[in-house]
Amino acid sequence: MEAAKRWTLLIAVLALAAFAVWRGAAWVADLPPERSPFKELDIERPIGWATAMQFNRVRSDPQLCTATLAASDIGTEPIADSREGADDQCGFANAVALTQSTYAYSGAVRVSCPLAAALYVWEREIVAPAAAQWLESPVARIEMIGAYACRNIYGRAEGRLSEHANANAIDIAGFRLENGRVVSVLRGWEGEAGDAAFLRQVRGGGCEVFQGVLSPDYNRAHADHLHLDMGPYDICS
Ligand SMILES: [Zn+2]
Repeated sequence: MEAAKRWTLLIAVLALAAFAVWRGAAWVADLPPERSPFKELDIERPIGWATAMQFNRVRSDPQLCTATLAASDIGTEPIADSREGADDQCGFANAVALTQSTYAYSGAVRVSCPLAAALYVWEREIVAPAAAQWLESPVARIEMIGAYACRNIYGRAEGRLSEHANANAIDIAGFRLENGRVVSVLRGWEGEAGDAAFLRQVRGGGCEVFQGVLSPDYNRAHADHLHLDMGPYDICS
């Protein structure tokens, strides 16, 4: 090949490569947040493959978590940081009281910021469609057992501190429907087919947003509730 032709070919290849990089960068920049690991969590968006990674950043960055809640339609009020317990092992840190979410709750939801963010996504993206698929009526209210409690796991005197001790966990007993019926974890898990399928779907879908999800499948201590937490242990059972 003559020198002139070689140069023309080289320039054409370089131009093509530059175009590909430019288009690729534009494509990445245009990705919706739930499919871009470079963007931060947007809890108004559906769950995508980048959502879990983004939740990890929110769990380890209190300011990012606060900004995430502020950028959404969730209603929260900050809870002042506090410590209690024999060794100050319990308490609230960067926690919020939920004032407006997709669903009402049967009690006061006072939880860590990351747990509030995860509940908001779970209600809309997992619970609402599961109810539409399996139940005769939409969910009106989530029946909770509790969230914050200064105790060890299973309430034992010894052992590991529960995620509840830092308001990083919530126990859900069931779901009150708009028609008044209650789908409880205790009766529904092995109950009527639609209720059982609904409960398994909200459990399994919960694993996409929460760190720890424990159901009646885990052990008898969870026969009557779903435990949802944002602690360090990745468990889905
Ligand atoms: Zn629990």
